[in-house]
Amino acid sequence: MIGDRLDPTCRALQQFLQRNQVSFEVKAPDDFEKQSSESGERFQAADFPVLKLHDGAVLRRPSTRQLATALGLRTQPSLRDYDTVIIGGGPAGLAAAVYGASEGLRTLVLEREALGGQAGTSSRIENYLGFPNGVSGEELASRALQQAKRLGAEIVVARSVRKVEIGAHCLHLDGDDIIQARTIILATGVSWRRLDIEGCDRFAGKGIHYGASRGDSSGTHGLDIFLIGGGNSAGQAALNFANHARHVTLVVRGDSLEKNMSRYLIEQIKAKSNVSVQLNSEVSAVRGESRLSEICLRDRSQGEVSWRACGGLFVFIGADAETGWLPMEIARDQRGFVLTGDDVVKAGHWSETRDPYLLETSIPGVFACGDVRLSPVKRVASAVGEGSMAIAFVHKYLESRRG
Ligand SMILES: Cc1cc2nc3c(=O)[nH]c(=O)nc-3n(C[C@H](O)[C@H](O)[C@H](O)COP(=O)(O)OP(=O)(O)OC[C@H]3O[C@@H](n4cnc5c(N)ncnc54)[C@H](O)[C@@H]3O)c2cc1C
Repeated sequence: MIGDRLDPTCRALQQFLQRNQVSFEVKAPDDFEKQSSESGERFQAADFPVLKLHDGAVLRRPSTRQLATALGLRTQPSLRDYDTVIIGGGPAGLAAAVYGASEGLRTLVLEREALGGQAGTSSRIENYLGFPNGVSGEELASRALQQAKRLGAEIVVARSVRKVEIGAHCLHLDGDDIIQARTIILATGVSWRRLDIEGCDRFAGKGIHYGASRGDSSGTHGLDIFLIGGGNSAGQAALNFANHARHVTLVVRGDSLEKNMSRYLIEQIKAKSNVSVQLNSEVSAVRGESRLSEICLRDRSQGEVSWRACGGLFVFIGADAETGWLPMEIARDQRGFVLTGDDVVKAGHWSETRDPYLLETSIPGVFACGDVRLSPVKRVASAVGEGSMAIAFVHKYLESRRG
């Protein structure tokens, strides 16, 4: 990849490659031009990032879908109708794919970015059963993908579902493809909440990042970086960044880490000499020219403020379900989490004579599992469990229709 590492498009493509486990090397345009001066290979500024693939193909500033297609990843469903279509390829979606395909259902997974979902960005998941030394999110996703494919699930990446048509159970994909599904499983997870600080949007991707993938840490070599958040995701990321950055500061609004972070992470953070924790604090302002260069930290108890040079600000302040694109008929709570089972009945959104299945939404035959579902538990293990269970309910639903 020839491009400026700090260019948001370059970063998005790097993340896509990394999360799809494609090895790559990044060269700055100037370095590339120096090396290629003899061959006379030249690109215009608008071409960057340029990608040169192993087979000699050259892509100029491609979309992730163009890149995925050029790499031979599946971006197009092979059939027009499926027994079950799973929207989202995180732990919940992949677990549903494994069970659906292994139980003989024509199963399709549609993933807008890369498989693994949020878990795929985790440097080490230490509490997932069967991995006594922990497992990286990438490895877990890659194993699940192999398993789902081997069992016959079809996996399509770099495609978003834009609309679900109730009644006909039709899914509209970006790029205008329409897929028919006898049942639908929503496994779309959650997305990071945005910072509410004036002027911070212009630094998105230019010094301010929401969440972090494993590869982000290598770009912080020798820098002083800041992370906002006091939960497990922030803790894991701080430990990962500490292996590369000069110093990592965890900015936490609360007065202790114990409230929201697991003990094993707190212990590991304490043992790192280049990680500090600033409690009772918040980022109140940001500034920079073309990129973020400084942040203002405010002490919430004293009200004191101080400006600090900042080589990168990574935000982990909780997540919301982004389900605004779903039809109104699929009942949700105020924060977008999808109601299932009893919650649907209690909210008065169920009109069938039978009770809804545990993971069934207000629309019969449409199920929800994992983080997108209204439930207090947001974990890899629960997402995997619910994804597997969803298939049992798909069978029950299909049987009841046959009946
Ligand atoms: C950094 C980090 C570390 C974590 N560490 C741990 C840990 O150690 N232990 C633990 O138990 N939990 C951990 N978690 C939480 C765990 O990762 C989540 O609970 C789990 O990933 C939820 O799985 P999911 O499949 O429901 O959703 P997600 O993982 O969010 O996956 C949803 C997928 O759906 C896709 N998608 C969304 N909308 C669409 C659409 N319209 N069309 C197509 N695709 C779509 C998204 O791109 C995404 O890939 C961590 C989370 C993070 C962010």
